[in-house]
Amino acid sequence: MATNRVLAAVCREQGRPLSIEELVLAPPGPGEVEVRVAACGICHSDISYLTGAWEAALPAVYGHEAAGVVVGVGAGVTDVSPGQRALVTLVRSCGTCFFCDHDQPALCDATFPLDATGPLSTPGGEPVVHGFRTGAFAERIVVHASQVVPIPAELPFDCASLLACGVLTGFGAVANTARVDAGASVVVIGAGGVGLNSVQAAALAGAEPLVAVDLDASKLQAARAFGATHTLNPNDEDVRRAVLALTEGRGADYVFVTVGAANAMESGMQLVRRGGDLVVVGMTASGVTAAYDPAELAHDGRSILGSKMGSTLPAVDVPRLAELYAQGRLMLDELITGRYSLKQINEAIASTAGGGALRNVIVFDTDA
Ligand SMILES: [Zn+2]
Ligand SMILES: [Zn+2]
Repeated sequence: MATNRVLAAVCREQGRPLSIEELVLAPPGPGEVEVRVAACGICHSDISYLTGAWEAALPAVYGHEAAGVVVGVGAGVTDVSPGQRALVTLVRSCGTCFFCDHDQPALCDATFPLDATGPLSTPGGEPVVHGFRTGAFAERIVVHASQVVPIPAELPFDCASLLACGVLTGFGAVANTARVDAGASVVVIGAGGVGLNSVQAAALAGAEPLVAVDLDASKLQAARAFGATHTLNPNDEDVRRAVLALTEGRGADYVFVTVGAANAMESGMQLVRRGGDLVVVGMTASGVTAAYDPAELAHDGRSILGSKMGSTLPAVDVPRLAELYAQGRLMLDELITGRYSLKQINEAIASTAGGGALRNVIVFDTDA
């Protein structure tokens, strides 16, 4: 059998451009699926590894916000078959552990053969780290079947790829983790590729007021389009005073922090009403801590909720989000700032890292 060669963008040194290399992709083993990647978004978690904010084992292929077509399945895979359009998430779940049993697949603690031996290696046989258990800055990928979620034919691949991480994360934080109700007051800190999805989820839930906070005027403008009733720029105004004024002096029922900055986590807490929730969505760099006053937290009955991948059940959330998109109620096309080929990936990454883009998407030549 011929070796399965794929072009991939390989990180060999943090802070350096990726190199486009031919790698060897192992065939799908039992319970595994091979997907030809049609589109892969660039997420800030990718940037955290690429820049060195998070420690990384190298060489590695990142990319975990993917959509494409199933091209092969290993033994025992019955949920998907070749030709199926699907998105691929980093949520690898066994379905039977404590966490899966509690509908928390993103916290699954099972280990899989792919965790021990990833599917990627160099032609010389050196193992290459399968970043985010996905490695989708590559033409084709091999993942566990639980990571593959079918999508309808009408959903374009570039839009579908965004569902796999940024949309699930931002939307799910509101709809699943916090379960925001109609009429709730909501503040979303950070109006990028994740935060805008928190904004549109809160808008669909009927949150009012729905306040977006960002330092970038163009992102605040986007937040308006995604349903924010008010926007605040900390450079221009006192955010706490403005939020208190919008909430009869109480503070917001829910504050979602979608950026990975300690000062946003801390100032976010100052916007939560007594009895309200701070929802931590953004991931800070390794070693970063945020401070709060525990006595005040107890006295005022505030809660801090961590939201991993929007507490998603992909098999439930993806069809629901695809349906909302089909109904014209979920904005996905508007999240895409730029489309790039795999060879242009360093340009796309620089644009994302610079903070100017909502989402940049790598699109692959595909005849699907
Ligand atoms: Zn991500
Ligand atoms: Zn599990």
